[in-house]
Amino acid sequence: MEPPKFINIEWIEQIAGEDIWEEFLNIELGNWSGLDLRKLSEQSGCKDQYDTHYSWTSGYVHGTWGPVREASFTTCGNPLHRMHRYPDQKSLPDTVSDAVDLANRILDDLNAAYPEFLHRIPVQ
Ligand SMILES: [Zn+2]
Repeated sequence: MEPPKFINIEWIEQIAGEDIWEEFLNIELGNWSGLDLRKLSEQSGCKDQYDTHYSWTSGYVHGTWGPVREASFTTCGNPLHRMHRYPDQKSLPDTVSDAVDLANRILDDLNAAYPEFLHRIPVQ
């Protein structure tokens, strides 16, 4: 089969045997139980926290459209512009109280494993 003209066979042969840069090597970061986060939350009795926090934060971490739109765009108010959006930097809602709640739940678990660990982060 004749390859397409845009493919440079010499160049492909040159890079085919190259070492992969260390920065591009895959690293297995999976957990040792082989369970995904949803299953871990179910088995640990934390499914309600998973449902409350995971989808929203995952959307931001992975840059899905909803969070990108919320964080980076504003809808134009000009009726002739058909509701287009333009880039605009906005402040996002504060997440500190949610983080404090989750951290204090972890400290509750720590207290269950090591009783009388009573330190908690004050709720603001
Ligand atoms: Zn406009």
